[in-house]
Amino acid sequence: MVVQNSKSNILIVEDEKGLRLGTQRLLEEEGYAVSAAENGNEGIKLGTSKEFDIAVIDLRMPDIDGLEVLKEIKNVYPNTVCFIATAFASYETAIQATRIGAYGYIPKPFTPEEFIYQIEQGIKQRELILSAERLKKEREENLFELASEKSRLNAIIKSINEGVLVLNKNGELAYYNYAALKYLNIREINIGENVIDKLPSKIVAVVKTIFSNDTFLLKTYTVQIEIKPNNELILEAACTPVPHPDGSLAGVVVTLGNITEFKKIEVIKSQFVSMVAHEMKTPLAAVQGFLNIIVDDTINVEKEKRKDYLKRSIVRLKSLTDLVNDLLDISRMELRTKHREIENIKVKDILSNVLQMLELEIKKKNITVQKNIEEKLPAIQADQNDITRIISNLLSNAIKYNKENGSIGIKLGSSPNYLILQISDTGIGMKPEERSKLFSEFYRIKNDRTRGISGTGLGLSIVKRIVESYHGKIEVDSQFEVGTTFTINLPINLN
Ligand code: ATP
Ligand code: MG
Repeated sequence: MVVQNSKSNILIVEDEKGLRLGTQRLLEEEGYAVSAAENGNEGIKLGTSKEFDIAVIDLRMPDIDGLEVLKEIKNVYPNTVCFIATAFASYETAIQATRIGAYGYIPKPFTPEEFIYQIEQGIKQRELILSAERLKKEREENLFELASEKSRLNAIIKSINEGVLVLNKNGELAYYNYAALKYLNIREINIGENVIDKLPSKIVAVVKTIFSNDTFLLKTYTVQIEIKPNNELILEAACTPVPHPDGSLAGVVVTLGNITEFKKIEVIKSQFVSMVAHEMKTPLAAVQGFLNIIVDDTINVEKEKRKDYLKRSIVRLKSLTDLVNDLLDISRMELRTKHREIENIKVKDILSNVLQMLELEIKKKNITVQKNIEEKLPAIQADQNDITRIISNLLSNAIKYNKENGSIGIKLGSSPNYLILQISDTGIGMKPEERSKLFSEFYRIKNDRTRGISGTGLGLSIVKRIVESYHGKIEVDSQFEVGTTFTINLPINLN
């Protein structure tokens, strides 16, 4: 007896009742699941309604020919193993049946053993067909996965912002993406083409070094290349050897990154450092000069003069301290480490305090201050020090760059979401071209009118940083020799 793992499904199409019932019982005793059809039509109906493992079809039936039934079943389920059972086997019908897809013949009459033997052969065939089918499907799925993986990777590399070039050991192009062409300004390039002549010499030098070594290290060599002059486009090329699976050198992969912005920041940083050093040099040299004179015994300095030198040193040192404090403020704002204490603030009160602080300077120049403050001015959420910083910088400018007997107008008002502060003066004013860098660090307008006025050029850059840190805005309006107005909008509520 054949041991069935899972019951095989067998269809018997047989018009002769005795034979039909007999074979059905025989097969069921062997453990098969059997369905039986008593004529051709029913055979087609059953055989096409679900997939049978085996079908045994009588050749001659009153309604439909067995070959017709075979054809219909095979049409829907090509993997059903079909036998034609007949007493009238002829060579031609055998050939015809095989052509349509019959697996074999069962000649009638047959003994139970002969019949079972044929069925077992059929089942083996069915298993072969099914496992071949499974293998084919798996292979197709694998292939599909491989293909889609490859195209996915390809699509990713093609679309990234970094340039990618792969060269083989002969310097021939094995792979590239469009970013590489764009960065290197190459119009046309072909896979397989020797591209050594088309690449910047710095890259070629590195590639050649990699190729010239028989033993190579899996390390990346980087070079920076100025593609467009004046720091307009600077690339960093990273060249890495690509090994064969056997360990020998296959080629080199070159990735190109755009580092123009980083370079710009580097330049700005070093410019900033040199400006700071420059700003510090003058007062330090002055203080050093005064002290040298005082300690030099060979120079006879009168007591009054000596005191004057010391006083001037103190002024210079104070300006240095101011400068250092301003710089620290800027760096804290940049690093966002500046601590803030946000509270409800009445800007009107801060304004009065600052005016009091600057009273002496205002009086010295005989300046009149006109205040125009909205009655129910809302409080704003801010850090007291920040607002003091803004107002004192703007007011000190309005005094410093004002004329004798001039005036300062202060307007405090509000819109639904903003507090509006306006400080105007009747001072020296600015030309349009002088205004362009007004908020840059260390920027000071140099002309006859500003010559005697001291300052670091950091005030407005700090004001702007503070205003922007509150998501507010600052605007300037100025007329040369007439006066200047700064307008600041600060959000009333933070968030
Ligand atoms: P600091 O404020 O650090 O003491 P500063 O006043 O020179 O130095 P900023 O406040 O940043 O620096 O101003 C930059 C420059 O803008 C000034 O040197 C001056 O030339 C010009 N400026 C600023 N405010 C006015 C103004 N109200 N009228 C005319 N020019 C001004
Ligand atoms: Mg200033």
